[in-house]
Amino acid sequence: MGISRKSFHLFSLIGYPLSHSLSSPMHMAALKKMKMHGLYMTFEIEPKRFATVIKGLHLLPFNGFNVTVPYKEKIIPILHTVSHEARIIGAVNTVKQGKMLHGYNTDAYGFACSLNEDLRFSPRGKSILLIGAGGAARACIYALAKGGAKKIVIADCIRRKAEKLKKHFSPFFKKVQFTIVKAGEQEYESVLPEVDLLVNATPIGLKKTDPLLVPSHIFQRKKLYVYDLIYNPAHTKLLTVARRNGCRTSNGLGMLLHQGAKAFEIWTGKRAPVAEMRRALQKALKSKL
Ligand code: NAP
Repeated sequence: MGISRKSFHLFSLIGYPLSHSLSSPMHMAALKKMKMHGLYMTFEIEPKRFATVIKGLHLLPFNGFNVTVPYKEKIIPILHTVSHEARIIGAVNTVKQGKMLHGYNTDAYGFACSLNEDLRFSPRGKSILLIGAGGAARACIYALAKGGAKKIVIADCIRRKAEKLKKHFSPFFKKVQFTIVKAGEQEYESVLPEVDLLVNATPIGLKKTDPLLVPSHIFQRKKLYVYDLIYNPAHTKLLTVARRNGCRTSNGLGMLLHQGAKAFEIWTGKRAPVAEMRRALQKALKSKL
C-alpha cells in the first residue's frame, strides 16, 4: 500500500545550503499540534540538479514544499501556476502540490505580519530605507508598497541591483515614490532624516565582526523603527545599538514564523497553530546558539 496525500502529509524544503534552516521543527510542531501524521524534510540540492529534483518530487506524494535560496526565482518556469502576488514579487517560496504545482509567496505576508505584530508599525504614508536588494528585499518591497508606504529608498552595494527592483516594482505601485541610493554611511546621511523605518535585508549582522551598516549617531537624532530580517543571532549589532538609543526594533523571527504559518495553511487548508510553531522555532533557535 502506497502513501496517500490525504492520510500522510509530506512536505519539504529545497535549498542550498540548508544548515541554518529552522523550518522542519516549526512544521513538525504544527503537524503534531493538529494531530496530523506527516513529515517535513529538508533537501539540500545542488543547483545543477534542481530542475530534475523538482520534476522527480512531483511524482512522489508530497502535499507541498518550500523553496529557499537560491531557487525562489528559478522555480517559477517549472510551475504550472503562480499566484498574482508571487508574480509581482518575482519569487516563489511555497509550492502546493497535487496533479499540478502551484506557486505562492508567503514571505511578503510574513514580513507584513511581523511588522504589525512585533514592531507595531504600519507602512501607510511612511518613508522606508531598505538596505539590500536581493531576494528577500523583493518580498519586503511588495509588503511595504501594498501596505501604503509613501516612499521606499532602496540601497545596495551594487546600485544596478537596487535600480532593477525600482524598475520592477514602480509600474505595480504608481503611488509609491521609489528612490535609489548607493550603500554607504555617507549616502544614508541624506535620506535618513525623513525615514521612519529602517529595514536590513542584507546578511550584514550574521557575524559578530560585521559592521553596523548605518552611522550610529542617526539613532540619537531620530527615533526610528528598525527591522532586521536576520533572526540568528537574535540581537544583531544594528538592533542592539538602535534599541540602546530608544528605537523600537524587531528581528526576523516573526517573518519566518508567519511565512511558515501561511504556507501550512496553503498546504492543508487548516488554520496554522501559530503559538505552537513559535514555541518550536524559539526552542530550535536556542539549540543552534
Ligand atoms: P541576498 O539575495 O544575498 O541579498 C542580499 C543583498 O544585500 C545582496 O544584493 C547583497 O549584495 C546586498 N548587500 C550585502 N552587503 C551589503 C551592504 N553592506 N550594504 C548594502 N547591501 C548589501 O540575500 P536574501 O535572500 O535577500 O537575504 C537577506 C537576509 O535576509 C539574509 O540575512 C537572510 O538570512 C535574511 N532572510 C530572512 C528571512 C526571514 O524569514 N526572517 C527570509 C529571507 C531572508 P551582494 O550580492 O553584492 O553581496
